[in-house]
Amino acid sequence: MEKTLVIFKPSAVQRGLIGEILSRFERKGLTIVAMKMARLSEAILREHYAHLVDRPFFPFILDSMTASPVVLMVLEGVDAVKVVRLLTGATNSREALPGTIRGDFSMSGQENVIHASSSLEDAEVEVKRFFTPEEICEWTPLITPHLYSPDGK
Ligand code: ADP
Repeated sequence: MEKTLVIFKPSAVQRGLIGEILSRFERKGLTIVAMKMARLSEAILREHYAHLVDRPFFPFILDSMTASPVVLMVLEGVDAVKVVRLLTGATNSREALPGTIRGDFSMSGQENVIHASSSLEDAEVEVKRFFTPEEICEWTPLITPHLYSPDGK
């Protein structure tokens, strides 16, 4: 099973979309193995968005991501990184397909409601960036035999 990091950005928290977005992940069959609310510091945002710090819009990202607390979670499932990215949709919400979270809930390239790890390598780093090992609750839902075949397919 893979683990992936999701951040409900202030654009989701301020708009009261936490429950609706979370229910999509639950209904899909992903397992929540960690979840918390936090305010993100500029330092951790500079680390998390290191690939964007030199872009002219980076100050807007800092303002946007510190506009309220965020909700962070670790989701688990077979191919969870790819599955969650597919559910999330394209970065620019106006190009995200209807049916995806960004496609259904947002209109902006910046205010695009959630972050989701983009690769397995990123997911491993990002889960460790925001959660201690003690905060990860390893558990197996009782419904697992109804989610996957015995060989995990
Ligand atoms: P993703 O979040 O889809 O993995 P990126 O890692 O490229 O995409 O960008 C991180 C975040 O930075 C985006 O989700 C978005 O909030 C913001 N962002 C990216 N590109 C732009 C842009 N051109 N203008 C404003 N904000 C942007």
